[in-house]
Amino acid sequence: MTATLCEPALAVTARLAGPRPTWERRADVIVVGSGVAGLSLAHSLAGSGLSVAIVTKATVGEGSTTWAQGGVAIASGVGDSPEEHLRDTLVAGAGLCDEAAVRILVTEGPAAVDTILRAGAQFDTDSDGRLQFTREGGHSRARIVHAGGDATGLEIQRTLEKAVHNVDVFEHAFALDALTDQYGAVAGLRVGRLDENGNCLEVGIVRARAVVLATGGMGQVYASTTNPEVSTGDGVALALRAGAEVRDLEFVQFHPTVFYRGPGARGRQLLISEAVRGEGAILVDADGERVMAGAHPLADLAPRDVVSATMAARMARTGVDHLYLDARDLGEDTLLRRFPTIVAGVRSAGIDPVTEPIPVAPAAHYACGGVTADMSGRTSVTGLYAIGEVACTGVHGANRLGSNSLLEGLVTARRLATLLKAELPPQRAIEDTSIAGSTIDAGARLELTVGMARDVGVMRTPEGMRDMARLLQKAAPAGDPGLAAWEATNIHTIATALTAAALCRAESRGAHRRSDITDRRDEWLRHITITARDGVLSTGETA
Ligand SMILES: Cc1cc2nc3c(=O)[nH]c(=O)nc-3n(C[C@H](O)[C@H](O)[C@H](O)COP(=O)(O)OP(=O)(O)OC[C@H]3O[C@@H](n4cnc5c(N)ncnc54)[C@H](O)[C@@H]3O)c2cc1C
Repeated sequence: MTATLCEPALAVTARLAGPRPTWERRADVIVVGSGVAGLSLAHSLAGSGLSVAIVTKATVGEGSTTWAQGGVAIASGVGDSPEEHLRDTLVAGAGLCDEAAVRILVTEGPAAVDTILRAGAQFDTDSDGRLQFTREGGHSRARIVHAGGDATGLEIQRTLEKAVHNVDVFEHAFALDALTDQYGAVAGLRVGRLDENGNCLEVGIVRARAVVLATGGMGQVYASTTNPEVSTGDGVALALRAGAEVRDLEFVQFHPTVFYRGPGARGRQLLISEAVRGEGAILVDADGERVMAGAHPLADLAPRDVVSATMAARMARTGVDHLYLDARDLGEDTLLRRFPTIVAGVRSAGIDPVTEPIPVAPAAHYACGGVTADMSGRTSVTGLYAIGEVACTGVHGANRLGSNSLLEGLVTARRLATLLKAELPPQRAIEDTSIAGSTIDAGARLELTVGMARDVGVMRTPEGMRDMARLLQKAAPAGDPGLAAWEATNIHTIATALTAAALCRAESRGAHRRSDITDRRDEWLRHITITARDGVLSTGETA
């Protein structure tokens, strides 16, 4: 049930501008994105007889998956059970998880991980060849399987890239907008081909029976993030323009321990995995005083929303912009064996974690919200599907439990493959392929992302959020079509929808924290939904 919630409505771009289409192709299934979700889907569709095309806006490996460190959560360890994994996920989700969706995640998780192992992934094992399990924040047991110590995502990406065959892959191909039939069902995609500098070479059309968004997250909407350059929220913005519902956008998870390079740091930053705290590292201030002692029963391993909010409060109170992660007690052997990538990254920035505490601050990490979808990827629009981080299936609620997202990509991709093999929609006639559009000035991106970090970050004030909404509405249409303008426009759309949702939610819950209303409110035990019509957003709510 959806009802109008907050006014006034805010304006975003209705269609992305681009030259007239000059080429055309056809596929049964077009997958946008080549991370764990997109590649797992293509892998699971092998042998189905369906033609599959992947479009990806950079090179194949350039998504968040490649950077994922800690691992994948599965309740397969001794004494563990899906029921316990479910319970931990629901607790972290702060009342807003969809329990049925979480149940699917935790019960189908082990089989989904088995698929990737059978495809050739090498996960870390003990001397008897049994998978090793580690612990992360919010998990009551050691249930995270990992690869290469702290390079789990890279191993998954490598495995899937090798395992996917008989698929047309278009790199440097930017999904602009969905194309629809006269009833609004999705029947294809408008794609801009880019040169290596991001200039638009030409635009084309791919007709398809199913368009699958697997475009990952939106961390680049913030000035500083753990996410790679490609994570600009394109799939959510595209879905809004296609008439789909999006949900829970206000719940942006800020990872507590992101390497702090200084106040001017912009773009992707080095993540210090939660597994480092899982192995015993602690958060301290400049005087060596523990930050999390007494803040939560799980102390340094409290859920991420709690740790980030506690850090933000300590930093505000003491007037500093970073704290420290002290991993010295782990010793050089453990640090190098378990976290080779992290140690190398931190050392290359001039800090030796063996002998010095690591400077850290929270940064944007994971989008709990996204395109409303079920666990098989169905969205509110016929012919449009969403899996992986771009989707909001309800498994993360108001705050994701660490290591549940690679898992979600694996599980939902398998389920969507089963669905598409059984009931692929018919090819529909595209109503209009020559839609005019606009973009906002790419030069506005920096001001918008810095504003989002300041005003709609870990701790939100009503004045800050209103200032941000005003700034967003001032962004002027301009710019030549191409990567910079398309991404800036999508960032503007996401920032506008996210700020609208954050302004609406008059409570603090999970990853959404307000300085003026610091407690949870029962009347807000519901989801804020957003839709767009002709470039005007409207907010609603659903149970
Ligand atoms: C540093 C880091 C560490 C993490 N560690 C963990 C972890 O240990 N465990 C865990 O479970 N999760 C972790 N996560 C989260 C997890 O990695 C992501 O949620 C997950 O990899 C998302 O997979 P995906 O397939 O949905 O998207 P991605 O892997 O991000 O792939 C998205 C793809 O879509 C493409 N794309 C985007 N927009 C367009 C467009 N307009 N047109 C065409 N292509 C487009 C991109 O180029 C990319 O190929 C981590 C994330 C980060 C950033």
